[in-house]
Amino acid sequence: MVALRIYTAEEISVNAVDRWRKSYADWEPQRKFADGKTKKQNDDAFDQIEHTPDAIAAIMGNKSWTHPQCTFCGNYCDKVISVKDEWDDKSTEICKTCVSKISTLAKML
Ligand SMILES: [Zn+2]
Repeated sequence: MVALRIYTAEEISVNAVDRWRKSYADWEPQRKFADGKTKKQNDDAFDQIEHTPDAIAAIMGNKSWTHPQCTFCGNYCDKVISVKDEWDDKSTEICKTCVSKISTLAKML
């Protein structure tokens, strides 16, 4: 069986900062990311903001930790439909735009 559900950026972002801090726990505070900001600068910034998906993503420099990514077009979105097989850990995420394209094709079936 396949389960369909809405998957949101809020859901992913609940623990995004914790996951980020754990992932970079062994980095020295002054070590820099590709954007030139140090780990400490990001760490301090996270303490200053409300942990909304967009606010976290703005500090991280991308939405990969905070927003679901559409499997079809690759865009990071606020919401997607998640399709998950109950026997498999893998899931497919589909954004509204891609669902619309699929829906158009479905009319030709
Ligand atoms: Zn898409």
